[in-house]
Amino acid sequence: MKQLRAIRGMNDLLPEQSPVWQYVESTLSELFARYGYSEIRTPYLEATQLFSRAVGEATDIVEKEMYTFDDKSGDSVTLRPEGTAGTVRAAIQNNLLIQPQRLWYFGPMFRYERPQKGRLRQFHQFGVEVFGIEGPDIDAEILIMTARLWRQLGISEHVKLQLNSLGNSASRAAYREALVEYLTARREQLDEDSQRRLERNPLRILDSKNAQTQELLAEAPCLLDFLDEESAAHFDQLRALLDAAGVAYEINPKLVRGLDYYGKTVFEWVTDSLGAQGTVCAGGRYDGLVEQMGGKSTPAVGFGLGVERLVLMLETLEVLPEALGQQVDAYLVAVGDVQSAALGAAERLRDELPWLRLQTHCGGGSFKSQMKKADKSGADYALIIGEDEAAAGQVTVKYLRAEAPQQTVALSELTALLQS
Ligand code: ATP
Ligand code: MG
Repeated sequence: MKQLRAIRGMNDLLPEQSPVWQYVESTLSELFARYGYSEIRTPYLEATQLFSRAVGEATDIVEKEMYTFDDKSGDSVTLRPEGTAGTVRAAIQNNLLIQPQRLWYFGPMFRYERPQKGRLRQFHQFGVEVFGIEGPDIDAEILIMTARLWRQLGISEHVKLQLNSLGNSASRAAYREALVEYLTARREQLDEDSQRRLERNPLRILDSKNAQTQELLAEAPCLLDFLDEESAAHFDQLRALLDAAGVAYEINPKLVRGLDYYGKTVFEWVTDSLGAQGTVCAGGRYDGLVEQMGGKSTPAVGFGLGVERLVLMLETLEVLPEALGQQVDAYLVAVGDVQSAALGAAERLRDELPWLRLQTHCGGGSFKSQMKKADKSGADYALIIGEDEAAAGQVTVKYLRAEAPQQTVALSELTALLQS
């Protein structure tokens, strides 16, 4: 039979890679807890309409990237391509928005894109969504929190914050009109994608990768010149808060983000250590979305962070803690007819030493072959139970990574020995 393979762009996470992911996941969840954020988990599958309404019909995601199909009763469903829409739906449906909420999530997202380095079809995001706080202080908080994350992971030097404001919907509409007028007059000089976007989603032309289009845009009207007063004040205050907190940023007036729901603050943390896929974390304010999704008007701000890209960065920059690869501390070698004694000793150790990561050899074999496995396991020591030890209630401890003589001790003394 032909061997089955995983779907392109959907990766297995293998045992040797999982320690890095666990490190990232625990660092992030502990950080969120330290800022008073709570976790929310929403379904991976949602009604298609949720995304076409929240993310926007004219976005790349909805136009071409969604895994959408009819379920057995003919309802159109979609594997979530991002986390904000589902979080907003859940917050409305479960009445969470009667008070401010600081939420975070983690999980797989699905987008039908061309798989390449840092771009997958099933990828993972950590996300933060804050509801019910309209001031720039909360925008600053989530950026300060993210800056702390980079420091904790040892990559501060390699990520830069880009910041922009999209203004309110009226100022965006006025800007859109000016931009369309400017670009329509130069239509034939635009790349094909941008020509198409000119009608559907002109702001997206600003982040076209085409060099000639970028040249044209150098002289185009600037979004920041169109900001309404309130958005401009919000932006100024945010900048002052970031300055005071020592979070460096660069204003990028062409930063628009690919999703329709953003207004006012938008930002991206970018790196040049990943090649083309340089955005690790991206987000902004989306004050209009909750109401648009049927809830009562609620300001909101959040971001999504691509875990594959972050892991790639940590590996490329070689900033992972050294002990990460080690999965066990001790390996119990059981030679001869000693299974019962070995399993018993292992349980006793686990009772007494909750921190100990102990792997017990199962499946028999010679002393030599078991010692090889002990060494390969990465353990610091082998705990050996042969028939002599079993009969005497003893264990032999052999140090695998240190120059120290082996010792045979009573099982009752082993805990004290390992603890030292
Ligand atoms: P890009 O411009 O790289 O396509 P995006 O604007 O579509 O990104 P968002 O929807 O803002 O991305 O998602 C937030 C983060 O999730 C991105 O900054 C990135 O780190 C990560 N991400 C997005 N799409 C993918 C993907 N297909 N594979 C891996 N990570 C992704
Ligand atoms: Mg994308």
